[in-house]
Amino acid sequence: MQSLTLEEIQNLKQKEISFFLYSVYKINEQKRSKLKLITALNTLTTYPSFTENIFLFYKKTHNQKFKATAFSNVSKEIIDAFSDSYLEPESKLIEVFNQQILEIDCEKEKTLPSNLLEKIKCESIIAFPCADLGIFILAKKNKKSISETDRNFLKHFVDFILRPAVELAIDNERNFNSAIRDPLTNAYNRGYLDLYLEKEIKFAERKKFPVSVVMIDIDYFKNYNDLNGHQKGDKVLIDVVKTLMTNIRGYDIVARYGGEEFVIVLPHANLKSATKKAELIRQKIRDFVFFNEGMQPNGNLTISLGVATFPNNTLDSKELLHKADLALYMSKADGRDKTTAYAKKLEH
Ligand code: GH3
Ligand code: MG
Ligand code: MG
Repeated sequence: MQSLTLEEIQNLKQKEISFFLYSVYKINEQKRSKLKLITALNTLTTYPSFTENIFLFYKKTHNQKFKATAFSNVSKEIIDAFSDSYLEPESKLIEVFNQQILEIDCEKEKTLPSNLLEKIKCESIIAFPCADLGIFILAKKNKKSISETDRNFLKHFVDFILRPAVELAIDNERNFNSAIRDPLTNAYNRGYLDLYLEKEIKFAERKKFPVSVVMIDIDYFKNYNDLNGHQKGDKVLIDVVKTLMTNIRGYDIVARYGGEEFVIVLPHANLKSATKKAELIRQKIRDFVFFNEGMQPNGNLTISLGVATFPNNTLDSKELLHKADLALYMSKADGRDKTTAYAKKLEH
């Protein structure tokens, strides 16, 4: 990544230097990286030329999408509605990576999501690439171009202030993710699952909604490893998690509980709907074509599942996992490739 030259720094105006120092001071007051990023945008709205403008930042994600991560000068309602929303892949804004700075008339070009444009009532935008990390946007309520001086000021702001703040945010996110995810499958790890489930259940207790867990174990996996080797076994684990992840909703989570055991947490799902979801997942794995699965004892690579629900089966998060495990055990005893919903009679 290119860095600034001494000459570029020496060419800054006194007014710019003072403002950048002020920005850095405000950013450093924040502890969390996401707040640092938001603060960077917020300080801009105190700069005399930009008090009326709206600033947005779209971060480039690992799968090349652009996610709204920071806004300034907008209402809380807009932040709640549009945080983490994505730019549409055909958005002209994405071209900013080839074209340096882009000025766009919002009436003519498809840029921001139309419902966001409507809400912020802006008529034109200027988009700046922020290295390869994302897109920084100034939204204006008119179509007047900004002055060359202001344009340069913003370009410097991106280089000096925004880029380091975004880099830090990305770095922290990466560190946080590697602490809570299993490196092989990218599912959450057990430590995170325990914390998450306990917190979610406390929340569910207050808000009175059910939380279901599905415990999953791959059938005859030792046999698969013995026949095909550990590497092919690892590939199965990766593909199983991918299948689980693509069949859940946004606020459900998948965790690796142990070697070939996984847990899905389904907030708001009761025992019946969670069992239905578990059955669908069982079928998806059954239909998935795994390498050499015909040699498995049942001629197919399959999973067994057990489902339990808060508050119906228990009020405690550890006990909830235990009950899902008991139900899973019944699926195994019943011949595998099955889903069992917890019922008290299973314990006798
Ligand atoms: P069951 O149907 O009763 O669940 O039988 P199983 O063979 O799946 O169960 P068992 O507990 O006997 O074996 C689990 C196997 O999972 C043994 C272990 O080598 C394998 N395993 C655990 N973690 C990993 C891993 O990270 N990679 C691979 N390739 N295999 C793993
Ligand atoms: Mg097991
Ligand atoms: Mg197993």
